[in-house]
Amino acid sequence: MTPAERREALEVVATEVRACTRCRLHAGRTHAVPGEGHPDTEVVFVGEGPGMNEDRAGRPFVGRAGDLLVRFLGTIGWRREEVFITNVVKCRPPDNRDPEPDEIAACQPYLQRQLAILDPALIVTLGRHSMGRFIPGARVGQVHGTLHAVDPATGAGAAMVYAMFHPAAALRSSDVERQSYDDAAGIPAALIEARRRRTGGETGDLSAVPAAATIAEVSSINAAPEAPTLF
Ligand code: URA
Ligand code: SF4
Repeated sequence: MTPAERREALEVVATEVRACTRCRLHAGRTHAVPGEGHPDTEVVFVGEGPGMNEDRAGRPFVGRAGDLLVRFLGTIGWRREEVFITNVVKCRPPDNRDPEPDEIAACQPYLQRQLAILDPALIVTLGRHSMGRFIPGARVGQVHGTLHAVDPATGAGAAMVYAMFHPAAALRSSDVERQSYDDAAGIPAALIEARRRRTGGETGDLSAVPAAATIAEVSSINAAPEAPTLF
């Protein structure tokens, strides 16, 4: 796909999301939140669902959790405009409750199509519900900061997934906040590894990194990774 085709295809999905009534969440929304970002990016961040601020603005991660996400990005020299940011459900669950399994399932085709269009190298999941789409059965407390292969059924068959805590959890706990900064520091190495797998690897030694790798393992294999720029 050319950049223009990709932009247009993402807009087709967004337009459908804004008119969607596939699940009960449509009834309570002010604005649907399809997601936004650079159509040619290599990195997609997937959160849980819009909160009050996002519902008002029609844009993802614009409240306090979003400010923290932007700070995490800043520590590795990236801006939010350089990545794509979206959620597993595109309409706000009432009272910020967790999305229900049937709502996540109803919304899943939109995320799947966005990922198929974006074809990212790296997906960063923010929180449990997002992680559950890509690393079924895992616990965030155990897999945060680690890199995993992605099931092609998610739409992003050529991507690796890197799990992080939800920024809202980091706002509630200084311990989670500290771990989240550590995890953010691992994103560049995760992207380098994801790029390497996508291209088959310069060294051709794909067996060196296990299917689920910690960033320490990745970093020891990719000697001295420098933070990659996106654009
Ligand atoms: N939390 C999320 O999971 N997504 C948003 O867009 C905002 C807050
Ligand atoms: Fe449609 Fe998803 Fe909104 Fe449900 S949450 S109404 S499936 S866009």
